[in-house]
Amino acid sequence: MSKHSQNCKVCNTDIEGEIYHLGFSDMEALYCWDCPNVLLIKDRDFFSGNGIVFPNLMAGDKGWQEYNKHLLPYYEKAEELLPKCKCGGHFRFMAPPRCPKCNEYLAGKGYDNKPYYRNHKYVFVTIGSVYLEDGKFHEST
Ligand SMILES: [Zn+2]
Ligand SMILES: [Zn+2]
Repeated sequence: MSKHSQNCKVCNTDIEGEIYHLGFSDMEALYCWDCPNVLLIKDRDFFSGNGIVFPNLMAGDKGWQEYNKHLLPYYEKAEELLPKCKCGGHFRFMAPPRCPKCNEYLAGKGYDNKPYYRNHKYVFVTIGSVYLEDGKFHEST
């Protein structure tokens, strides 16, 4: 992880936080749908261990859909395994990062109605996170 600053496109505030490169740290991350909180899953076998295996399809493969929409039903099932956020919201695969100041999307409101806007490469942690380790979820701030 490393220090990171990102300008919110909605309220124009420079938001400080830490960035985790998911590929290097072998981690999955999901933002809360309703607040800037993040769920970090350091256990790569968490989903498969619970019977959820995501199909690894490329464009053109049988069953593949535009913007990886074929993954949506798998995400819904996987999300049932996750704890609730302390704000009362849910961590979701499709949730984009929110601004801790204005609570809008950091990247702005316009996503061109694309249903798939996750960034698989890194996650931006601003107000804290919840992480899974040794089969249990822990709060960290
Ligand atoms: Zn903002
Ligand atoms: Zn939340």
